[in-house]
Amino acid sequence: MSLARPHTGDEQARSLQGKTCLVTGGSRGIGRVIAIELARHGADVAVNYRNSIRKAGAVADTIERIGENAVAVESDVAEMETVERMVEEVHGALGTIDVLVNNAGITADRRFSDMTREEWDRVIDVNLGGAFNCSKACYEDVRDSPDGRIINISSVVAQRGNYGQANYAASKSGLFGLTRSLALELAGSGATANCVAPGFTATDMLSTVPDGVRDRIRERIPMNRFAQPEEVVGSVRFLAAPESSYVTGQVIGVNGGMVQ
Ligand code: NAP
Repeated sequence: MSLARPHTGDEQARSLQGKTCLVTGGSRGIGRVIAIELARHGADVAVNYRNSIRKAGAVADTIERIGENAVAVESDVAEMETVERMVEEVHGALGTIDVLVNNAGITADRRFSDMTREEWDRVIDVNLGGAFNCSKACYEDVRDSPDGRIINISSVVAQRGNYGQANYAASKSGLFGLTRSLALELAGSGATANCVAPGFTATDMLSTVPDGVRDRIRERIPMNRFAQPEEVVGSVRFLAAPESSYVTGQVIGVNGGMVQ
């Protein structure tokens, strides 16, 4: 992806100037590209990671080369204590948080008849519990910001279900209910909460799917190809920016035409 800013004169070029964003799971994949995209539009960005400390540091370095402030912050989003510590760290480094992007996510795929309770719990705890924890820890910041935003990264799988992904699909459709409820509770303050539901996207997560299964998935996509992360992040940038101030409680599908 180009690291250059959009052309000067483009009204979107600095649309996030003065904003502080926290992107969970910003070390790799879609989250990495979201973090860089928000910075390209003028935001300071906290890049959360759980394991990938070097990669998160590299994303923060990239953002600083763009000319914005950045910090890499460790937290397992499933653990409230580490989330609270992370948010304090962001406050110290970048100030209060205007935009929270709940992007961190995992899979633990297995057909339902073989899925263990542990596989269910871990996926729900990270994908849905993590969004709860981070939204809780950032709630006052977002509510009191002049342009507060919570953006939850769901999935087309939440809308369709998927073989072998009962835990993942449940976690991702749970984000719809969380988002719509947050949208209602935040509406009086002017802050918004929305979901982006990407289709199948070329990242490490997709590369764990066996080749034959990946081919069958591709055949079901009307555009007959997977998304690149760069094709997903424009919707996140739009939802983060002041121009989306009247959009709340919505799900934006970015899925190559898969029926919702
Ligand atoms: P990915 O390449 O596997 O990256 C996952 C990211 O989440 C990493 O930065 C990882 O950090 C972080 N993470 C995982 N568990 C975490 C935890 N407990 N606490 C904090 N961070 C954690 O995945 P991706 O494809 O970019 O997916 C990003 C989001 O998009 C996920 O929510 C995913 O469900 C969603 N999505 C993906 C696709 C797809 O096809 N790829 C489609 C629809 C939706 P570390 O490396 O530091 O552990």
